[in-house]
Amino acid sequence: MGILETATNWIRFVAGATQAQLPSHGSDLSVDQCDRIPFIRKGYRHANTVSESILSCFTLSNEAANIWSHGVSSLVYIGLLCESLREACGGESGQHVHLIREQYVPLLLQMFGVWVCVTCSCLAHIFGCVSRWHCRAMFILDYFGINFSTTASALALYAYTRPMDPGTGNFATFSMRAFFSIALASHLSVFTMQCCMNFVFRPAEHIKVIVVAAFTASFSVNALPLLSRYLSGETQPSDLYHCLHLACSALGGLCLATHLPERLAPDCFYVLHSHSLMHIGTVVGAYYQGLALQLDMPRWRELPSRPSLANMACVMAVYTVSAGLLGYWIAYGKLKTVDRGDQDRTTFKTASAKKIR
Ligand SMILES: [Zn+2]
Repeated sequence: MGILETATNWIRFVAGATQAQLPSHGSDLSVDQCDRIPFIRKGYRHANTVSESILSCFTLSNEAANIWSHGVSSLVYIGLLCESLREACGGESGQHVHLIREQYVPLLLQMFGVWVCVTCSCLAHIFGCVSRWHCRAMFILDYFGINFSTTASALALYAYTRPMDPGTGNFATFSMRAFFSIALASHLSVFTMQCCMNFVFRPAEHIKVIVVAAFTASFSVNALPLLSRYLSGETQPSDLYHCLHLACSALGGLCLATHLPERLAPDCFYVLHSHSLMHIGTVVGAYYQGLALQLDMPRWRELPSRPSLANMACVMAVYTVSAGLLGYWIAYGKLKTVDRGDQDRTTFKTASAKKIR
């Protein structure tokens, strides 16, 4: 009986929420500043609980393209990861299944990084509208995912794309430990800066330049091995895909920085706006980077001072623990006073009462 009652209540709740509580469009005046997107005047979601925010994904809101672009990408990347793992484990033959070929590890790491990034981003965009606290805390998760992905890409790019000739005096002479330390420090700094700019020192519009500079620095660190290969005069079939990755990322970044196209026509581009175009650019760019890395993968065996599985695991573990602890400290320490929900909402009251007990 208990299950039947719960199911009936759930159906009633879904029906009620979709009919009455979830208007697909809302004005910007009715939403928290945290949710507000510059130049966008409509399409804001009015979800006050976790269940409502999940239901609101099916409405044509200004978060729909953000949620679905990375939600679908997350599912696609699970498929791609499984396919690459199957290949790495010995393909169709079924022999040596226990032994993942070492050269696949950096590629799998890059793909896993992209999956973490798009999944965290999708969750952040779904649940960010629940309350001011959810908005800020969920975007810590988003920033964690972005920098997890850039750290993983840095390791994969180092593993496959350094110049073959160590005598050129370029990046080949750069030690692995030095590059891994620079990459780790750079991506952890960007994560810290993003969190501080958005959650501790808000409003932060006037320091956008610093955030853009941090992103560029982070991107440049990742590009060091590849840049060194170009400077050494070595050309590879993967060069086109690396350029396409750069072009997609740059276009997405440009849209985000300039608030185009919604700046020109806010009422037309409230679903497909600069942030969602950046999402699409990021995911298409990451796919091209994956294709480029697949082409570069055979070089791995010939390159000097190859990073071991332990080296890469260590960098990713340090990033995950450091960023995780920092994110947790900000969400549960710095955001203590931020509203976790409207006190009038019965669902929130019940949840709080349960927590207190
Ligand atoms: Zn996003």
